[in-house]
Amino acid sequence: MSLSKNVGIIGVKPPEKECKDEKCPYHGHLKVRGMVLEGTVYRYRANKVATIVKEYLKYNPKYKRYERRTSKIHAYVPQCIEIKEGDRVIIGESRPLAKSVAFVVVGRVS
Ligand SMILES: [Zn+2]
Repeated sequence: MSLSKNVGIIGVKPPEKECKDEKCPYHGHLKVRGMVLEGTVYRYRANKVATIVKEYLKYNPKYKRYERRTSKIHAYVPQCIEIKEGDRVIIGESRPLAKSVAFVVVGRVS
């Protein structure tokens, strides 16, 4: 039996591993609320914070076309979630965890 909590995001499977991370939405006390976004892992190097790149389209009225823009978001990676650069992940908004970190990785897009 798994002791993972339900994070409240449909389509995300809870991790099979368990962890003792206090800032884990499945096994710790971190609550996920607010925005839920999907993006690509841009940088993740053996630390707890990954940089996620989100692509979006912005309308340009002069040329009547959409232009592609990207934004980078820092997201906390709990111990039980394994990701690598290039993965598609789902991140959820949480309380501020550091100066520039207010999102947590909740799972990979399969
Ligand atoms: Zn965990």
